[in-house]
Order: sequence, then C-alpha cells, then structure tokens
Amino acid sequence: MIDWDRWLVKWHVEFLGRQWNFVDLATLAGLVYLHYLAVLAPFYFTWPAFWSAVALYYISGVGVTLSFHRNLSHKSFKLPKWLEYLFAYCGVLSFQYEARLKNVADLKSQAYYRFLHYTYPLHSVALGVLLYAKGGMPFLVWGMGVRTVLLLHAVFGINSICHTWGQQVWDTGDLSKNNWFIGLMAHGEGWHNNHHAFEYSAQHGFEWWQIDITWYLIRFLQAVGLATDVKLPTETQKKRRALCNKINEESLKQN
Ligand SMILES: [Zn+2]
Ligand SMILES: [Zn+2]
Repeated sequence: MIDWDRWLVKWHVEFLGRQWNFVDLATLAGLVYLHYLAVLAPFYFTWPAFWSAVALYYISGVGVTLSFHRNLSHKSFKLPKWLEYLFAYCGVLSFQYEARLKNVADLKSQAYYRFLHYTYPLHSVALGVLLYAKGGMPFLVWGMGVRTVLLLHAVFGINSICHTWGQQVWDTGDLSKNNWFIGLMAHGEGWHNNHHAFEYSAQHGFEWWQIDITWYLIRFLQAVGLATDVKLPTETQKKRRALCNKINEESLKQN
C-alpha cells in the first residue's frame, strides 16, 4: 500500500521563499511545459490535431464549469455518484483541480476526491502520453498545449475580464459583469453578473441569447432524469432583484 499522504503531501522542498510539495512542483512544471507546447502550435497544425483540441476543450471545460463550479462548489444540482465522478474526472484533465476546488471542504471526506487531489497532474501526463501515441507531436501540441492553455486563460478571464468589461444588469454591489466573449469561451460562465446575483442558480445565461452550453447540458440531464434538485431563481426572486435595481436608479437620479 502506497502512503500517498507521505510521498505526495508531506514531502517538501524550499524554493523561491516558499515550501513546495510534489503536487505544487508537478503543477508548476506542467504549466511551464503546457505553455511551451502551446507556442509550438503553428509548426504542428493538422486538422485532426485541431479537432482533438476542440473536443478536449469542451470535455475538460465542461468538467470545470458543470462539475467543479456548478455541481461541487455551488451545489446547484445533484447527479448520481457515478456521473458526478465522471464529470469531475473530465475536469481533472483541465489541469485546474487545485485552483478550483481547494476551498470545497466536504470533498476531502470522499476517497475519490482525495485520490484526485493527490494525483491530478498525473492524469494530464497520462492523457498527453495517449495523445502522443495516437497522433504524435501535432496531437500533443494541440490536444494538450493549445487546449489546456486556452481553457486556463478563459477560466482566468471570468475573474479578470468579467470584473472589468461587460454589462451589469443586476445591482450586485460589486464589479461583476456579463461578458459574451467569456460566455462563449468558458461555456456560459461569462454571464458572471447573473452568477453573482444568483449564485445558487444552475443556469447562468438567463436570456435566450445568453449562450450557456453548460446549462443546456444540465437541462438535458434533468430532462432524462439524471440531474435532480436543479436550483433556479424564481420569477419572484428575479423581480425582487430587478426592483432593487430600480430603487437604486431612482435614488441616483434624486441625488
Ligand atoms: Zn466574480
Ligand atoms: Zn461561483
């Protein structure tokens, strides 16, 4: 029996003024290597490699948005365990496990999430090896490098771009905005002002034109009976929010 805790967590080195364990070092090395691969993109372009990157962009991206964010962090809906674990595994392939889930405390009590927590960089290495075996450098560069780096920046954009550019339709008392570009790139997570207004909501794009592919997938899972307890704001809750906006506008005019 391997003592994961001892080898992957308790072992430390001192570097750049902080302590690094195995997972930190593997993450850092992985991020540097993935960016290096992404830079090689023009030299290894092939259509099959491009489409493998698109497919993995959606699979691992939905893992982050549907599983990590809406299902595990906000508990916006429930899935049967096997499906919850499967979507979480898709998210692991995004290389963002630690970044997204480190504050979700109740996950540590489940052996499956403890295993992912200790080993998540290794799953990306395994996928990289698989891609290389299947399609050589083009698949590795596009399927791992370009895909992972783009998704990292799209998700990063939620917290930077969506707090700077876009529309604020709900008076949330913060800088959150709805941004269509991040909405498209991050599978619906760019409707960030909506999300701040109704954090529990499984749906982020409320209007028909606010494309939210994560929500379409949740809606589909609900229709076939797999997603349950799907939380949405009621019309009353939306109206109450909208009324808050009106009152604030009025008081602004008077001042
Ligand atoms: Zn925010
Ligand atoms: Zn959130």
